This record gives sequence, C-alpha cells and structure tokens, in this order.
Amino acid sequence: MTDFDPNDYSIETQAIRAGHTRSHEDEHSMPIYMTSSYVFKSAEDAALRFTGQQPGNIYSRFINPTVSTFQDRLALMEEGERCLAFSSGMAAIMAVGMSLLKAGDHVVCSRSVFGNTVITFQNYFAKFGVETTFVELSNLDAWEAAIQPNTQFLFVETPSNPLMELVDIRALADIAHQKDCLLVVDNVFCTPIMQKPLSLGADIVVHSATKYIDGQGRCIGGAVIASDEIIEKSIYPYLRTGGATMSAFNAWIFLSGLETLAIRMKAHCDSAFELAHWLEAHSAVEKVHYPGLKSHAQHELAKQQQSHFGAVVSFELKGGKDHAWALIDATKMLSITANLGDVKSTITHPASTTHGRLTPELRAEAGIKDSLVRVSVGLENIDDIKADLLRGLDRRDP
Ligand SMILES: *Cc1c(COP(=O)(O)O)cnc(C)c1O
Repeated sequence: MTDFDPNDYSIETQAIRAGHTRSHEDEHSMPIYMTSSYVFKSAEDAALRFTGQQPGNIYSRFINPTVSTFQDRLALMEEGERCLAFSSGMAAIMAVGMSLLKAGDHVVCSRSVFGNTVITFQNYFAKFGVETTFVELSNLDAWEAAIQPNTQFLFVETPSNPLMELVDIRALADIAHQKDCLLVVDNVFCTPIMQKPLSLGADIVVHSATKYIDGQGRCIGGAVIASDEIIEKSIYPYLRTGGATMSAFNAWIFLSGLETLAIRMKAHCDSAFELAHWLEAHSAVEKVHYPGLKSHAQHELAKQQQSHFGAVVSFELKGGKDHAWALIDATKMLSITANLGDVKSTITHPASTTHGRLTPELRAEAGIKDSLVRVSVGLENIDDIKADLLRGLDRRDP
C-alpha cells in the first residue's frame, strides 16, 4: 500500500482510495479534522507557509486535510488537475464568476440551466457591469453567434433539467476556444461516473455535491475542477478571500458519498431507463423526455458522450395541469419535492414550482408544458416506483 498510486486505477477504485494520506494514528477511514487553525514549528515555519514557499496547513478557510482529501479525489475522478471545494454548488458557480469576470465582460449561458444560476448572472453579475446572453442549449450556431470580443466564458449544463436535452461538449469547447473563451460545464446531473467534460475539452467543471455526490440528501456543498493554472491564479485566491468554504464535516460525508457513487449511479440509471420505457408504453402518457429512449432527438449523442443515460425522467401526460397534479397527489411513496440525486425518488411539477416564476410565454419557449411531470429516480425497488405512479396514470379523470 505504501507505493499506491491512484493514477494507475479505474474511477471506481479512485473513488474509494484516492487522496487519503494516513496520519500517525494509522486510521483506516478518513478522519474529520475539525480545527480552524494549525500550529507552526517556528516563526520561520509560519512565515514560509504564509508566503507559500512551503506547503502545509494554515487556516481552514482555505486548507483542511479532510476537505483536501475530498478535493484530490474528485479532481482525479473528473480527470482534472485540481479541485477546490465550496460551501454549496451556487458558491462554486459564484466563485467561477467572481474570479474570472470584471465590469465590461460578457458571458454566454444556456437558457436551460439551474434557476439560481440564471439569477446569479442576470441579477448579480449584471449589477457589476457583466452582461449575459442566454441561448438555446443544443443550438451550436446560436452559441457561436452570441460570442462577443469581451466574452470570457460559455456556461452550460448537459443534460438539462427537466427536459434532458444535451449539447455536444466537444463541439462547444471547440467553438469557445476558437474565440478565446473558456467553457464551463455544470456536471451535477452526470457526475464523473457518467461524463467527464474536461476530457471532452471543457476548461472548468462545477459541481453541486449536494445531489448525487452526497446521494442521501444530507449536506450542502460544491466544487470547481480545472487546470492548476486556473485554480492557482483565479479560483484559489477568491476562495481564500471570499470564504465560501466547505466544512470538514461535510467533506467527510461527501467522501463516503464518492465511495459508493459508481454503484449508485448505475442503479439510479438502470431504474430510470426501465421507468422511461415503461412510461412511454402507457396510454396516459403523451411523451417521455429521456436520452436513453430511441425517440429522444439526441439519443446518439447521449450514447457517445455519456456512459449512462441519467436518472431523471420527465414526461407529459395527455391532458393538462389538473392531470399532472392529480398524478402527483395520487402517489403514496414518492416525495413531492424539487430536490434530486437522492436515494429517495422525488416527483415534481416543473411548470408550477421550479419554473413557476417564468411568464407563460417564457415557459412555452423553454418547452415546459403544464402537463409535464419530473421524476428523479431513487434506489427504491423499481416495481414500487411504477406502482406508485400507476395509481395516478390509470385514473381517467383528474
Ligand atoms: C442543485 C444544483 C445547483 C446548486 O447547488 P447547491 O448545492 O444547491 O447550491 C447547481 N446546478 C445544478 C444542476 C443543480 O442541480
């Protein structure tokens, strides 16, 4: 074990063993280092660490052994050079913007990203003179046309929530690089188990560890993975000053989440695949949005770009909002909540919750119909999930 090099191993093994350097206590499991500061051997030692001439722990706002283990492990899994952990997924996205943008800059962002990401660019960065153009996710021409001389980066989430549309990451990275921009990918839906954006040409990956990385709905956290240069020059100085730090306790939870991520993702995706096909065959269902279906417009791209098709299934019912609400209310087991990435399956009505603040016109433009229902498929027995949905599907009238 002394000369174990995680680089020689597959992602499942890295997820379990990478990053942990045993302390003098010879512990088998990673300890939680709950300490705000560290002690130096001498005044000179302190000076060398503070000026960065010598590596070592200083203060847990920006360095902590449990958090570092999580960072090193996730960096390896994403095939990136370095990772920095943050207090939430939104804090990670904010860190990318705060460290790379200045007044007068421009961002191109997919229209179909997490709601708070839209608000971050539209309400907050706009206040400081950064303009954002929102474009249709899968339309590469629209991305290219939206890039301006002052564009710093493109920001994308693939597949999108809730309609599970994709963009070709490699093609988008080429477009970005031709125009001297960076490509930032929010990889929450896929995790590195299913998709590795950095090896497809993206420059920065952001995560909400709150979702699949935790996997059991306990902690809030986030991460940024990029080259040594981007992290060292831009993201790290911002974390050190901005202070949206991941706690050691949360890092410890996320570390154990990573250990089971591969088998959980495969089980989530297998159930979602089965559920999507089953829903598509039901007479009460108008359309199912799932990249694993041959009817999905980007099925071939999904096969190429992802190792699995994902764990979120959205579907339109024949009928309208009343039918969707009746189906949701007929469930006895599924949790009615907008959260996802949990062992517990969740069900939600996007048009009146996550997308409820949009005008009906904007909702229509985004393709979010009143009859749309989204299920984040958990790890309960798939037959129980089907039975819970069947109660509402088999009812004729709302
Ligand atoms: C949840 C989520 C975020 C935000 O993460 P938090 O940890 O809740 O701050 C960002 N992107 C996507 C795709 C998400 O699902």
